[in-house]
Amino acid sequence: MVLDTASDPSSGFSTTDIYNVGVYGLQHGLALNSNALYLVITPPGIASDNPLEGAYHTYGTVNFHGTQPFNIGWIGTDGTLDQATTYISHEVVEAMTDPRGDAWQVDPRNTVSWNEVADNEAQNYTYRLNGYRVQSYWSPADGAFKVDDGNSQNFYVNNGQLTVNGDQFGYGYNDTIVVDVNAAGGVYLTLNGQVVTFDPGKITSIVVNTGAGSNSVSVNNEAAGVALTINDGGSDSVRIGSYYGGVQGILDPFRSATRRITPTW
Ligand SMILES: [Zn+2]
Repeated sequence: MVLDTASDPSSGFSTTDIYNVGVYGLQHGLALNSNALYLVITPPGIASDNPLEGAYHTYGTVNFHGTQPFNIGWIGTDGTLDQATTYISHEVVEAMTDPRGDAWQVDPRNTVSWNEVADNEAQNYTYRLNGYRVQSYWSPADGAFKVDDGNSQNFYVNNGQLTVNGDQFGYGYNDTIVVDVNAAGGVYLTLNGQVVTFDPGKITSIVVNTGAGSNSVSVNNEAAGVALTINDGGSDSVRIGSYYGGVQGILDPFRSATRRITPTW
């Protein structure tokens, strides 16, 4: 890693200033890759010449042994990791889909102020991915704002309601669903071993649609205040309460089964 503070932009910087930081990096050991996105991350209190901006990506060319494309962006920060990773995910997705403002945009597209897949309403939705908060982007194929988490099955969140649909591996698939709580107190759920996990308060209700087949739903624990609905689709079994007394007011089934009663007469 090369740490160099000589090229740091001061508040009110322009896109040219950011470009120059990138060029400075290339001149001081940073490898040039035309498919890379170079991000200049500024400390709290440093703002661009447009007070409405928090981050952006743009492009240019550099001339090192010939002219080559150069993708660069700026990430403003407020001192929290959550905000930085949210902005970084926003700009990375957009630089991948619309690096020069002439590829994938949302309507109405704009060649000057790029209207891209992570802009507008997409900024309202975030998900904590491997511990890091990232932002959603608009997915026309899904008709939804999306965060790719590596799961092959989809989990839908709408106004705080998490909907979990079985049979995503095919009609009649025997789905296994486990409802639980993560260490932070938020909803933790698995569908056939694939995990979704949410910060506390993100989810206000859960709807499980098991679909066809012989499905199994285990409710080990319930996040505080989160209503759970299980819509039975096939020949399902539903188990409520872990052996550790996870759900208040529900008898521990292990203890119940082994309790001895000594008759007296
Ligand atoms: Zn954007």
